[in-house]
Amino acid sequence: MNRLDWINLAYLVAALGFAFSLKWMSSAATARRGVLAGEIGFIIAVGATLFWPDMTNEGYVLIAVAVLIGAAIGVPLGLLVPMTSMPERIALSHAFGGLAAGLVGVAFYYIKYEKVTEFNMAVIGGEVILGFLVFTGSLLAAGKLIGWLPQRPIVYPGQNYLNFTVLGAAVALVIWLIIDPSQTYLIPVVAVLGGLFGILLIVPIGGADMPTVIALLNSYGGLSAALLGIVLNNKLLIVAGALDGASGLILSIIMCRAMNRSFTNVLFGAFGAVDEVAAGDGPQGSVRSASTDEAGDLLKNARSVVVVPGYGMAVAQAQHKVRELADALDKEGVDVRFAIHPVAGRMPGHMNVLLAEANVPYEQLLDMDEINDDFPQVDVVLVLGANDVVNPAARHNASSPIYGMPILNVDQAGCVMVVKRGMSAGFAGIENELFFNEKTLMVFGDAKTVVGELVTEVTGQRDAISL
Ligand code: NAP
Repeated sequence: MNRLDWINLAYLVAALGFAFSLKWMSSAATARRGVLAGEIGFIIAVGATLFWPDMTNEGYVLIAVAVLIGAAIGVPLGLLVPMTSMPERIALSHAFGGLAAGLVGVAFYYIKYEKVTEFNMAVIGGEVILGFLVFTGSLLAAGKLIGWLPQRPIVYPGQNYLNFTVLGAAVALVIWLIIDPSQTYLIPVVAVLGGLFGILLIVPIGGADMPTVIALLNSYGGLSAALLGIVLNNKLLIVAGALDGASGLILSIIMCRAMNRSFTNVLFGAFGAVDEVAAGDGPQGSVRSASTDEAGDLLKNARSVVVVPGYGMAVAQAQHKVRELADALDKEGVDVRFAIHPVAGRMPGHMNVLLAEANVPYEQLLDMDEINDDFPQVDVVLVLGANDVVNPAARHNASSPIYGMPILNVDQAGCVMVVKRGMSAGFAGIENELFFNEKTLMVFGDAKTVVGELVTEVTGQRDAISL
């Protein structure tokens, strides 16, 4: 075997690492192993590439500098950004990936344009458009999520015509380059038009719907990397890009289904505007509130409790206290399970990650489909900082913005306890009729504080101290 054969063998092993990584990351029980498989895959891939026959000393120096710059940005991002800001962090990573793919495509063109085939020129063109589209689109998405840019969708007449004119112009220039690759001044214009299209695509989408769009940009980024692999004749890049593209696409389809969004609307932008009339109409009435003493008693005396975590649990960082509560109830003989809605929180898997961090056993975490039929037999549901994902309006109120979104049927349980700070709406900006249900008890307060007090109630520690 020559050196190239060894490199290709290493690439094959790395590709297997990526495939297993995705497979294992699809379940909370194997997710850590999945991350490790992906990391090992990347180390093998990058390591093998360093032995590429054309490598020069100057190349090694440039790679070392690039690794240092990348690490200087990536390590603080990984360490400092909180879990609640993951969507914007991921958007920033995509922006860097898109920029890298776009710049490599441009560089490759300038090195090879005199001998480039028509096929390769078409692939470079597509890759540059996609790379710069992902770069600007992801930056804009991150800006909207961080709050540096206005979150509201910006819509104007003729928007789609303008968008497709810009894209059409970029494609037309690529066709010109296929016919005559020596028009070297055209490729920067293609890059700018690709970037402009990325901005125009994201402008009409509200900040609230950004996480879905980010999954889609991830998919475009993967496609761009796969095209780059074709241009560079690098099989690993083709495989990795295809895996990235396909998984991003599947993720955005799952998110669209779980949020009852039309996938075509995401593809063509201009979605995410909340129906103002429907949002204003909400259920009226009074709510019943309970103290943590009462709530603790109810929990202790229940046979089965289902905890429904939501965005509020993430904000309060209450996951460790929740684990303590589950353990305390378990000791009292209560059957405790967790019901996880696919879009609870602000990113897919948000609740799974937090509960795994607190070492909640995986077998206690149940997906919506696994638990929804059980709610009529459940004594107490503890809704912890969740709102939209338990709003029964999604089932029957056709004028509600969340109508059709699958929800956790907690209102079918014997008693529902909702922990939140006040009566504020959730992500969709609408009132929740669950709070006005006669079976519902509101326990007002920060999720971490309330759950901490519930732990004290259930374990009886406070009584022991006061005696
Ligand atoms: P949600 O509907 O956003 O509601 C969260 C609730 O948590 C709020 O009503 C808030 O009420 C409460 N809260 C905030 N801070 C709290 C704290 N410190 N302690 C206690 N409560 C607190 O959350 P969700 O039910 O998890 O639903 C997720 C929403 O995000 C869905 O509409 C989904 O479509 C959307 N979304 C999800 C994803 C994803 O991938 N997961 C992506 C995009 C969009 P108070 O202010 O009154 O406390």
